[in-house]
Amino acid sequence: MPSLGPTRPGEKPRVVVLGTGWAACRLLKDVDTRAYDVVCVSPRNHMVFTPLLASTCVGTLEFRSVVEPVSRIQSALATRPGSYFFLASCTGVDTKAHEVYCTAASGDAQLPSDPYQFKIAYDKLVIASGAEPLTFNIKGVQENAIFLREVSHAQEIRRKLLTNLMLAENPGLSDEEKQRLLHCVVVGGGPTGVEFSGELSDFITRDVRQRYAHVKDYVKVTLIEANEILSSFDIGLRQYATNHLSKYGVNLVRGIVKEVKPTEITLSDGTRVPYGLLVWSTGVGPSEFVKSLYLPKSPGGRIGVDEWLRVPTAPDVFALGDCAGFLEGTGKPVLPALAQVAEREGRYLARLLGKVAAQNGGKAHCAGKVDLGEPFVYKHIGSMASVGRYKALVDLRENKALPLSH
Ligand SMILES: Cc1cc2nc3c(=O)[nH]c(=O)nc-3n(C[C@H](O)[C@H](O)[C@H](O)COP(=O)(O)OP(=O)(O)OC[C@H]3O[C@@H](n4cnc5c(N)ncnc54)[C@H](O)[C@@H]3O)c2cc1C
Repeated sequence: MPSLGPTRPGEKPRVVVLGTGWAACRLLKDVDTRAYDVVCVSPRNHMVFTPLLASTCVGTLEFRSVVEPVSRIQSALATRPGSYFFLASCTGVDTKAHEVYCTAASGDAQLPSDPYQFKIAYDKLVIASGAEPLTFNIKGVQENAIFLREVSHAQEIRRKLLTNLMLAENPGLSDEEKQRLLHCVVVGGGPTGVEFSGELSDFITRDVRQRYAHVKDYVKVTLIEANEILSSFDIGLRQYATNHLSKYGVNLVRGIVKEVKPTEITLSDGTRVPYGLLVWSTGVGPSEFVKSLYLPKSPGGRIGVDEWLRVPTAPDVFALGDCAGFLEGTGKPVLPALAQVAEREGRYLARLLGKVAAQNGGKAHCAGKVDLGEPFVYKHIGSMASVGRYKALVDLRENKALPLSH
């Protein structure tokens, strides 16, 4: 199998980073490339600024405004000998041999073998491979719904929305068929589902009324949530969001999806909801990759880490972001799947790796007696969710001291 072998004596230690999300990119930005060579492995070559993704679905922002190529975040990846970006997914980790196994994301590029697999030796390994959308194994979700996590998803949503608007103008379609085509359904009333519904409602009043005037009255947005929308926000803010969305035409439905067919959703009470566009946003859980790793797990099935974000059973392995959680024994709760957690963990780990290198602990098996300094402590700054019409909710309950005007 092709490989990037272990670093030799005299060479810089190598940090292998899995992922190009919030956690990985922050680490890559801050890591000391005088002390380490960096190798990044990810099936995508860019970071996505997820909080703005919903705005790209309706053209408020252009797709290129929410992405940043990883080689711009850390130029060493493209310029330094010994540092690389590999367009691939990691499929396995051998913690004894200090190696990761990868499969190139080759698409139809016809590499010498298909799949094209290789391995990389690491001195330090950082797993920051994120999480995957939860579907709760509901029949038909994977096949028929669009998730909103990547730029390709936002592009698919935009294409489908505009295609349906144009198709609805064709002669001979019944009113019922036009209503179905132009029924945009969002499942999941967390911040992402709410923000996307708000963007859709803005799009309908701002663009659809002018550019698709013939069919404007058939367009409808429905947000389906099993409990209350924005359940992690303060009750007053939840109430505000409910009133605001309802006032601007978002139909809020409390219900549990039982099955999804190509043009229709069935709720557990038997209600049938015909749709033309379905966006699924019901939270995230551990990916198949994370589930497959023989590493300790935190409550919720993420990779279990100690207070320094180390995997205790695997020397030189760290995990952070949505794929990681504190082990039960640490007494700390598993942190929410948020960019503000992932980003700060990435920043913390870059500093920790700097300390390790300064004490000659950068190479594999050399960090045993190194002083790692203070453990990682997370302080929640607050939560924000936009609801359309230039309005947003900000929940600062956990940080009353945050100044609002600076
Ligand atoms: C639409 C949307 C809006 C959001 N808004 C906010 C917000 O306003 N505030 C907030 O705090 N959070 C927000 N979040 C949550 C936030 O984006 C995530 O918590 C954050 O992205 C987690 O960062 P991460 O680095 O752990 O994972 P991700 O950013 O998900 O990155 C994971 C990376 O790993 C790569 N990868 C996956 N599998 C493999 C593999 N096997 N091998 C190698 N690489 C792999 C992926 O391609 C990706 O590059 C939002 C999320 C979404 C989807």
